[in-house]
Amino acid sequence: MSAERREWRVAVVGAAGRMGQRVIACAQEMREVRVVGAVEATGSKAIGEDAGVWAGCGVLGVTITNDLAGGCAGADVVIDFALAEGFAERVTRYAELKKACVLGTTGVDAAGREAVTRAAEKVAVIHAPNFSVGVNLLCALTRQAAAVLGGGFDVEIVEMHHRHKKDAPSGTAERLAEMVEAGRGQVLRRVHGRGGVVGARSGDELGMHAVRGGDVVGDHTVIFAGDGERVELTHKASTRDTFARGALRAAVFIAQAAPGWYTMADVLGLKMLERGEG
Ligand code: NAD
Repeated sequence: MSAERREWRVAVVGAAGRMGQRVIACAQEMREVRVVGAVEATGSKAIGEDAGVWAGCGVLGVTITNDLAGGCAGADVVIDFALAEGFAERVTRYAELKKACVLGTTGVDAAGREAVTRAAEKVAVIHAPNFSVGVNLLCALTRQAAAVLGGGFDVEIVEMHHRHKKDAPSGTAERLAEMVEAGRGQVLRRVHGRGGVVGARSGDELGMHAVRGGDVVGDHTVIFAGDGERVELTHKASTRDTFARGALRAAVFIAQAAPGWYTMADVLGLKMLERGEG
């Protein structure tokens, strides 16, 4: 790939889904990227349709296919927002095809995570539970807050998403929990909701609460509750375009990166802040 090149070719997998459509639509606003492939699951009603028309942004000249290798053939980068089922197989295929990949799927199992680790030996990979700039800043701030406030503050994470979301808690809530642990330097016991006579809260608990309903795009709050004071860090996404634009920004970054596993902190230059040096 030449250094002067300004336009990166992208294939979108899960092209007819809520996120896939927004990635395709938002790509039309960016000069650095061009959608050249669109892949859907076998049996999807979108197969054979124009990806731009399906996404509501006009004719693109890219036909949605169920042929993963064919759909990705002309791309520098694959952006995958398909579902967790079959994730490991898809990621393994991207590495075999030598395609850098931006992976947005959440609720991924151990085999899927292992596939990402192996793929990163061959191609540049970003697997992020949330591509929004604001949430990645929230992660960095959460780590800092946990480090400063320490074990005297109880931490609970509350997330809310639309009624269609399949996994719980959200991948972002899991990431925030990891940030709390990293900041505190302590592994905490996840408690997913509470019910019945659960007794007093212990100091090593980390409460996780998944609220579902309506069309909520994604809200996350990290509560640090101490004696006499409380700190709450909140992010609210009001449109999926924030994730789509972040994923496209990540695609431009990894199109030019050496093989390896990158994070949104690399893309956004938040590494120092995440380590508490910012
Ligand atoms: P969705 O159900 O609307 O779309 C998923 C699409 O993937 C569907 O059209 C489905 O047919 C397709 N698909 C399933 N298996 C496939 C396969 N093997 N090959 C090709 N396409 C396939 O879901 P969504 O709301 O768009 O979310 C998709 C995923 O992205 C979920 O895991 C969600 O949690 C995650 N997500 C991540 C972020 C982020 O920033 N990382 C943001 C929002 C959603």
